[in-house]
Amino acid sequence: MIQYICKYTPVELFAGFGVECIRREPLVNSFELADGASHQNLCAFSRALLEDCLQNGTGELILVNCCDSIRRVYDILKEKGDSPFLYLLDLPRCDTTCARKRFALELERLADSYAAYSGRAFSAARFHTAFSPAHSSPASPTQPYLSLLGARAPQALLEALQHCAPLPLQNDTCTGGRSVSLPTGSADNLWEAYAAALLGQTPCMRMTDPSGRRRITENPRLRGVIYHTVKFCDYYDYEYSALKQEQIPMTKIETDYTPPAPGQLVTRIEAFLETLPDTSLQTGEGETNNMDQTAIFAGIDSGSTSTNAVLLDAGRHIIASSVIPTGARAGESAQKALAIALQQAGRRKEEILRTVATGYGRSHIGAGRQGVTEITCHAKGAFFLDPRVRTVIDIGGQDSKVIRLDETGRVTDFVMNDKCAAGTGRFLDMMARTLELEVSRMGEIDRGWKEAVTISSMCTVFAESEVVSLIAQNKRTADIVHGLHQSVATKIGALLARTKAAGAYMMTGGVAKNEGVRRAIEEKTGEPLILPEEPQICGALGAALIALEG
Ligand code: ADP
Repeated sequence: MIQYICKYTPVELFAGFGVECIRREPLVNSFELADGASHQNLCAFSRALLEDCLQNGTGELILVNCCDSIRRVYDILKEKGDSPFLYLLDLPRCDTTCARKRFALELERLADSYAAYSGRAFSAARFHTAFSPAHSSPASPTQPYLSLLGARAPQALLEALQHCAPLPLQNDTCTGGRSVSLPTGSADNLWEAYAAALLGQTPCMRMTDPSGRRRITENPRLRGVIYHTVKFCDYYDYEYSALKQEQIPMTKIETDYTPPAPGQLVTRIEAFLETLPDTSLQTGEGETNNMDQTAIFAGIDSGSTSTNAVLLDAGRHIIASSVIPTGARAGESAQKALAIALQQAGRRKEEILRTVATGYGRSHIGAGRQGVTEITCHAKGAFFLDPRVRTVIDIGGQDSKVIRLDETGRVTDFVMNDKCAAGTGRFLDMMARTLELEVSRMGEIDRGWKEAVTISSMCTVFAESEVVSLIAQNKRTADIVHGLHQSVATKIGALLARTKAAGAYMMTGGVAKNEGVRRAIEEKTGEPLILPEEPQICGALGAALIALEG
């Protein structure tokens, strides 16, 4: 069986030899072997492919000279010499008459090499039947749809996205939508016709003239783009930057071919999907006139660290709220937080007309309407508390987010931290433990700082070593704490820059209770942060508002 990585690979040619081709999909947990064999700035896909081949064997593999990274992988695998058939296809960078002729020769060369290696005979009849309708051009979508665009995406990611997308998701990445059909009557010059068919596909960004890609983004039924890039793959970063100037709703995700942090990824995508015009949850005021005016509405935010509940009456007044630790069982904590709020309001569970759950544990709560992300909920809660807010900075236990709003309260953009804990509550919790402090005291301790101390490492593990060595140098606790708060603010500053954030700014989430972090962030924003009375309930408040709006 032949394995390949690129949509320009002539899989029909191998069908002519009676051999099946499959796309190689590396998904690795580490790059240990790859990093031992090469430098680390290969693109993440090439590193993963190399790691996979070094771990599991190369097999029969066709590579394409897409970029220097793939050429490097080819060189390393060639030298290793464990592949029975390893071939680097020389793909032209354009689709001109000359390029087609050159590529036709290359296809013949590949056919000759494979025949010599395998001893198999090429059958033109088998070759022609490989161009069945299943292999031909996919119909242009006739219904509203979303596009996964950009660089190749791992299959697991594609499936996860298709699972949570409210509209059909088309795979328009460089490996998706392979469409090769051979024109009838091309028997005279078979290889040239085949070369033309392969080169005539929607171009990938490696081609000199990628303007044919406009047909993807100019389809009037396209409702939004999830743009996928691979770490250190430059081709698609350029296209992303260009598309960003246009009006297409778009979010970017980057993978490195290690298993993704599923909760965070799904939250990020769902939040983006919630911002799309067809699926928006954000602008509805809901019909409350005909509603039973004694009804109450619940919002529950099941976070990584705290579980929070808010109850609203039909007049949009907060009648009770609670904040409790999430602990090991998200579902039980949600019920407990709700029970505390009900008790506080003197109401019964049966009086709740609707409940909406948000936060990481939202799918385990069993509320009526599931799956509203904390991004939409924090935005909604923040705008309700103060309609001047245009940027929400939410720092919770597990992640930090910057959310941009327009003057109607709609989410227009958002960014989150990546997998690592830098710039989150967890980072501060760990450092407080190292310093033998209560995290709730860090803000007031920061007030006493005198000497600027820089914690330069963004990685929590390295930052902890830095703190340990600062303790060993007898640095004052207040100075170290101040340095840690500066480090969190630096991370947030980068998120603010990425969204081109503008005031007024509101800070939500548990870390907003830390005045030291607030001050450090205010130095970045250049203006005071709006602080809700209880910043931890903002997500639950947004969820309760969505419940009220039905
Ligand atoms: P999540 O939504 O992920 O459950 P929260 O919004 O509850 O997270 O924030 C939890 C974080 O807030 C903790 O990790 C801690 O660092 C910080 N935090 C909570 N309470 C306080 C406090 N009183 N003072 C300072 N920081 C706090």
